[in-house]
Amino acid sequence: MRLILLGVPGAGKGEQATRLSGKFSIPHVSTGDLLRREMEEGTEVGRRISEFVNRGELVSDTVTQAILENRLRETDCLAGFILDGFPRNLSQADFLQAALERMSAPVDVVLNIEVPDGTVIDRLAMRNRLDDAPETIRHRLKVYRKVTAPLVDYYDRAGILKRIDGDGSPEEVTQRILTCLARKA
Ligand code: ADP
Repeated sequence: MRLILLGVPGAGKGEQATRLSGKFSIPHVSTGDLLRREMEEGTEVGRRISEFVNRGELVSDTVTQAILENRLRETDCLAGFILDGFPRNLSQADFLQAALERMSAPVDVVLNIEVPDGTVIDRLAMRNRLDDAPETIRHRLKVYRKVTAPLVDYYDRAGILKRIDGDGSPEEVTQRILTCLARKA
């Protein structure tokens, strides 16, 4: 199974991706995690990445796409994967579509995890990441609305979008996702 998770920063994508990854025994592929790993390694590329991440800006498509495609070509992704944080704009969505076509591995379902704005701010305030400072959070939400939100329509038109109510405990949200996926099968 190949899944994409969409949702604002703080919608709970990472948490749900980890839980689904355990249930279905497929890897959780988070571009945020992959980029943070580059940053920790302190390479030249990592330093450039951190300038964007710490300001709440998107990292360039070229860098993110290369990192993502390398990850998807690892053998554990043959069983399927859960994408968290990618795609984040329309050109990344087109890139993904083409890359997965080359691998004969189309996306099955896109889950849009929907939560009210207030919930998101509260949740992010509880994390302890450098890019979770209030000003950066506001900027990330703005970027999300402008360049990432159009992907909801994009996948809706492709007929693979499912909407999930993300307001609830992690267990409740996972249960909603599982019910939704079972309905589809
Ligand atoms: P959140 O969902 O809370 O924003 P992520 O870990 O998904 O957290 O992303 C953190 C940051 O990593 C983003 O603000 C952005 O700078 C960078 N990033 C992650 N994924 C991408 C992507 N697909 N394209 C560009 N930048 C990305």
